[in-house]
Amino acid sequence: MSVALITGGSRGIGRVIALTLAEAGYDIAFCYTSNETAAKETAAEIEKTGVKALPIKTDVSNESDVTTMVQAAKDTFGSIDVLVNNAGITRDGLLLRMSDKDISDVLNTNLKSAFYTTKAVLRDMMKNRRGKIINITSIVGITGNAGQSNYAASKAGLIGFTKSVADEYGSKGICVNAVAPGFIETEMTEKLPEEVKAAYLERIGLKRFGAPEDVANVVKFLASPDSDYITGQVIEVTGGMR
Ligand code: NAP
Repeated sequence: MSVALITGGSRGIGRVIALTLAEAGYDIAFCYTSNETAAKETAAEIEKTGVKALPIKTDVSNESDVTTMVQAAKDTFGSIDVLVNNAGITRDGLLLRMSDKDISDVLNTNLKSAFYTTKAVLRDMMKNRRGKIINITSIVGITGNAGQSNYAASKAGLIGFTKSVADEYGSKGICVNAVAPGFIETEMTEKLPEEVKAAYLERIGLKRFGAPEDVANVVKFLASPDSDYITGQVIEVTGGMR
């Protein structure tokens, strides 16, 4: 039985990644930061597929929380085969009005967290001479986006991190890739004004917003042996967004 650890697995894209990997037979450890009800519901849904679920309350921007989370997952399941760095937040605004807290909260939650989680799982993966690390970045980490300088910088950083760690640990059999979603319908995008959503839709070749399943299916592929010769890549899941 393989084990996957998914950060921010209680809601949105992370929840669907957790359920998709559960259906593929992985035991699932996942973290959330505050929404206990959503975490309990997701754990129950995961267990309906016949695998085990371990929800862990963690702030991924805090290194000691992350160390405790990874230890809890290892105590329950042995070792971690797949790490999905999915937890992320936005604090949008124009740069001149962006507070230092808005900058550091986004960089710490979206980017620094990946340093902590990856460091915490790497030694075991090296010992096993295999492992899959999948970082959920964003198309705006490639294109930039007005009003999201903090978020785009965190996601661009995650791409540099992905490529560097892939290079550093490829010889140990560890694959590190990123998935860059475009506009995916979740609570994160729900709060955007209608005119902003309409402008996005205009730029999407397939003329529909993405669903969390569109991202989760790519994660499932990157977690599986079918992608064993793919590392250091960024796979865009944008419906052809221009
Ligand atoms: P979401 O619906 O807001 O869910 C975010 C998840 O992350 C929740 O499970 C939340 O836990 C968890 N989380 C947030 N801060 C955390 C922290 N400090 N520690 C631990 N967990 C934390 O977001 P989403 O739309 O599914 O986005 C998931 C990922 O995809 C993010 O990295 C996002 O940047 C990326 N992405 C999304 C889109 C999109 O269109 N939605 C596009 C490109 C990239 P709680 O339930 O406890 O709050």
